[in-house]
Amino acid sequence: KVRVRFAPSPTGPLHIGGVRTALYNYLFAKKHKGDFVLRIEDTDQNRYVEGAEDYIIESLNWCGIPFDEGPGKEGDYGPYRQSERKEMYRKYAEELIKTDNAYYAFDTAEELDAHRKDHEEKGKTFIYNWHNRQKLKNSLALSEDEIRDKLDADEDYVIRFKSPADENLHIKDEIRGNMDIDTSTLDDKVLFKSDGMPTYHLANIVDDHLMEISHVIRGEEWLPSLALHFMLYRAFGWDAPKFAHLPLILKPQGKGKLSKRDGDKLGFPVFPLEWKDPNSGDISAGYREDGYFPEAVTNMLAFLGWNPGTEQEFFKLNKLVEAFEISRVHKGGAKFDPEKTKWFQQHYMHEADDKIIAEKLEKILQLKEIEASSDYVLEVVKLMKERAVFVNDIWEQGYFFFVAPTSYDPKNVKKAWKEDTSNLMQELIKVLKEQENFKAEGLQAKVKAWIQDKEVGFGKVMQPFRLALVGAMQGPDLYEIAEMIGKQETISRLENAIK
Ligand code: GLU
Repeated sequence: KVRVRFAPSPTGPLHIGGVRTALYNYLFAKKHKGDFVLRIEDTDQNRYVEGAEDYIIESLNWCGIPFDEGPGKEGDYGPYRQSERKEMYRKYAEELIKTDNAYYAFDTAEELDAHRKDHEEKGKTFIYNWHNRQKLKNSLALSEDEIRDKLDADEDYVIRFKSPADENLHIKDEIRGNMDIDTSTLDDKVLFKSDGMPTYHLANIVDDHLMEISHVIRGEEWLPSLALHFMLYRAFGWDAPKFAHLPLILKPQGKGKLSKRDGDKLGFPVFPLEWKDPNSGDISAGYREDGYFPEAVTNMLAFLGWNPGTEQEFFKLNKLVEAFEISRVHKGGAKFDPEKTKWFQQHYMHEADDKIIAEKLEKILQLKEIEASSDYVLEVVKLMKERAVFVNDIWEQGYFFFVAPTSYDPKNVKKAWKEDTSNLMQELIKVLKEQENFKAEGLQAKVKAWIQDKEVGFGKVMQPFRLALVGAMQGPDLYEIAEMIGKQETISRLENAIK
C-alpha cells in the first residue's frame, strides 16, 4: 500500500517550497489510493518555534490537502510527533552499536573544533570518519575499560554511524534515476545526542520504517543525506522506501534558491498564510491574506517542477490527482513566477461561483461596517467580477456601489468640471427626477435624447456625471451604476458634487 509522509520540522512558518512537497506527497498518495501522513519532526528542541505546528496544519487544510494521519488525527502508527516518540529511538541506536554499525563518541565540541583548526592549518578538511576515527575519542579507538569508565561517569557522548571506508553505493531515485555514491567522503553522522534525543537522521529512518512509509518524497536539499539513509536501512536490515527528491524552487530571476526572506524583498508572499514571528513580532505576507484562492496556489505549485505533458494548465486539485505522475517531475530547478500565480488566481476568480465571491465580498464590507443586502452585493459581483483578480479588487474598483464619494479626483475635476458644468448638472437632475423607470436602458435613452436635444458634447455631461457618482473616472457603465445605487442616491450624489 502506498503510504507517504510530509515531515516538517516546526522551526517556523511553512514556506511555499514546503507546501509544494506536501502537495506532491498528497497527489501521489491520492493517485494511488494511499495514505498521506503528517509527522512533526521536533527532536531539535532548540529550534522549536511556538505556533509553527498549528501553522503547518492550518496551511495544509487551507490548501485543501488534509492529511489522513497525524497530530490530532491519530491512526495506527502514532504518535505522530517525534517528541512524543523519543523513548523508542535509543534502543535502535544501541542496536546499531551491537551490530557494529555505530559507536559511542566522547569528543567534546572544543576538541572537535581543535581538530578542525589543526586540519585547516595544514590545508585539509577534517572529516569524522575512517580517516580519523582511530585517533579520536570513541568506542572504536578506546579500550573496553575506558569506554565503561566514561559511560559510568556519565560523560557526554553521541552515537555516530560507522560509514564504510570506501564502498560504491548504487542508489535509485525515482526522479533522478540511478546514482553512484562513494562512501569514502561521507562523515560518520551523529545519530543520537547526549540529551537523549535522536538526530533527524535516526528518527526519520526509524519512523519511516515503523510507519510503513512506501515512498519518501522530499526536497532536493535532502539528497546529500540519501546515502546515509540508504546505509541505515541496510544496517537495520529493513527494506528501504523508494525515494524521490524534488527540484529546488529558484528565485524569479532564476539565480539561487528561493528563500524565506525573498518574499518581503520582492513583494510577493512566500508563505501560504500570514505569519507573525513570535519573537520579533514581524509579519510576513501570506497568500490567503493577500486574497489568493487555494486553487490558484495549488495549481501554481503543482507546475513548479512538474507538468502533465499536455498544453493544459488549469487543474483543480482532483484533476491534479488524476494527472500527477512522479516520473514527470523535473530534475532541474523550477523558477518561481509570481505573475503566473496571479494569472491562475484570475482564472479561478472568473470561474468561481458569483455567490461565493459575494460571500467573500460581504466579509470585506462587514469589516468596513458597510451594510448592504446579499442580493445587492451579488449584483455588484456580477458587474465587477470580470475585471477583478482578487475579491478585494471588487471593493477597490467598485466602492461607489456602497458609499458615496467623499472626494473627487482633482486632476479629473479640472478636466471635466467647466464653468457651465454645474448648470448642466442641475438640468440633468431635473431630467432624472422626471424619469420613473430607473433601469439602465431606459435611463440611457432618456439622457441621450436630452443631450442630443441640447446639442452639447457627450463628454461634457458624462464626465462630470461620472465624477459625481464615482469620485473618479473609473467603473463600469454609468447607467448601470445609477440603476444600482437608485434614483435618490444618484440625484443626491449629483447635488453634492454641485455644492
Ligand atoms: N524534517 C525534515 C524537514 O524538515 C524532513 C526531511 C524528510 O522529508 O526526510 O524537511
